[in-house]
Amino acid sequence: MTRDPHSDGGSGDWAVPGYAPVRTLGEGAGGRVVLARHTATGVPVAVKYLSRRLHGDREFLARFRAEARLLGELRHPCVVRLYEYVEARAGAAIVMEAVDGVSLRQLLRRHGATGPEAALVLLKGSLLGLGAAHAAGVVHRDYKPENVLVRADGTSALADFGIAVRAGRETGAAGTPAYMAPEQWEGEPAGPAGDVYAAAAVFHECLTGRRPFTGDDVTALRLQHLRAPVPLDDIPGPLRGLLRRGLAKDPADRPGIEEFLAELEQSATEGYGGDWEERSRRRLAELTALLALLFPFTATVTLEAPARALTLLGRVRRNGWQAAAGAAALAVVVTGATAVAARPHDTATTVVSSAPTAVTSAAPSPAAGTPSPAATPTAVPPTTDTTPSGSPSENPSSSPTPSVTTAPPTAPATPVTETTAPTAGTVTLTIGSWRRGQTPGTLVADVSVDATGTGPVTVAANYYVDSPADPYGNQTKELSGSTHYAVTFEADFSNHPCRGTWMVTLTSTPAAENGPQTASLDAPPC
Ligand code: ADP
Ligand code: MG
Repeated sequence: MTRDPHSDGGSGDWAVPGYAPVRTLGEGAGGRVVLARHTATGVPVAVKYLSRRLHGDREFLARFRAEARLLGELRHPCVVRLYEYVEARAGAAIVMEAVDGVSLRQLLRRHGATGPEAALVLLKGSLLGLGAAHAAGVVHRDYKPENVLVRADGTSALADFGIAVRAGRETGAAGTPAYMAPEQWEGEPAGPAGDVYAAAAVFHECLTGRRPFTGDDVTALRLQHLRAPVPLDDIPGPLRGLLRRGLAKDPADRPGIEEFLAELEQSATEGYGGDWEERSRRRLAELTALLALLFPFTATVTLEAPARALTLLGRVRRNGWQAAAGAAALAVVVTGATAVAARPHDTATTVVSSAPTAVTSAAPSPAAGTPSPAATPTAVPPTTDTTPSGSPSENPSSSPTPSVTTAPPTAPATPVTETTAPTAGTVTLTIGSWRRGQTPGTLVADVSVDATGTGPVTVAANYYVDSPADPYGNQTKELSGSTHYAVTFEADFSNHPCRGTWMVTLTSTPAAENGPQTASLDAPPC
């Protein structure tokens, strides 16, 4: 791949405040991707530092800012979740879900062709992710094996949305042109049908180990994409129709995502049987497992588990890293446009933020215009706290569903707790039940909180599916004035594809004597 001479991370020593870097995960024309930890909660994240080229491109930043808002609201298991986009004078970065897996490029490099079944399940995952993005108004524009991350269980997620378009294209012929649709070669802007074409081109590569067109130079490649018949010789019979349609020269002849998914399902069932998907995912998981040493968390647990996560959460016993992620709160907050405007020049601004938020009390509100670059508090995602009101003993302070807050990050400070106030002493959490709520798709946790003192206790519930890497929101409650509380938390899983196990992990501040408590329930069939 052609190296962008400015792709040193793009931002010198600038680091997004509030995240401790662990190690570099990847580097490309778009920038450097670093595995990091949200220092307040221990949640692992991937931070992509945009290259200097992208940071210096005002038009790109303006467009990406707009897309970041859309992407920030998008939650789909086949799309890497964007938590936060931070811009400062010294650099710009995207904070996102850290995917524990390998890129499809690494998989192809290691194994060559994946075989038809794994190729089908990869295509399906990508189409689901692209479809969700398209529905949210975002076109990927740079779908390629480098931007598909495959997890150990054989599921996959799309990364690098809306970012690489300029980085890839302007470095010349390297990489991206191999997957570029004819209309893009003709200079038209990339639309959803271009994503379908790229997905079909990658499908071809998974099936054969080769890209569909391999011209020696850009001119030859352009001609092939514009004119050459779709190469089907090495493609298994049942899958030829999919490639013919997906790689159609005229975007109008290509199926839409939904249609393509239906065709995929039909071809796969006809060619490989009704149970093709389960088998295919297992096959892909097997291929991926052979690369397990490249997984970000594998290395990290060994290197990083001990100190920080343990001190933060007190009682993480077995797998510090994962438990830390489970105990942390992940809430979606899309900040209002005011957050982008008129910041002091050295201060980072967060355009979109669904970043991990501390399970402890609200982050201190930054004083307006605080100049210290070291602390740069405005880059810390605003919490979802509502204005303290209502019952003094129970303040729900965030919603389990994605919420939009219009409060600027400089909202009035929360009341300061008096140092002479009573403390909660020793806290014990007990989950009495984790049951279906009255509204379909909701679950209710009945929780007892016992304390030896009457001081304030914050209890946080974090909802996720199967693993903390797949979070579905959080809720916190502030309690005080008693030594025994019976509280309920209600989680909304209704946006959720019907799969897996719905989980809740409860933590408290002060940390509960008996550690984080977890309950699980199998998702109901749809
Ligand atoms: P570029 O724009 O430079 O291509 P990408 O966003 O595609 O950057 O990331 C480059 C590499 O970093 C990926 O191929 C992948 O190996 C790794 N990476 C990117 N995002 C993540 C993530 N969210 N979780 C884990 N690894 C990631
Ligand atoms: Mg990329």
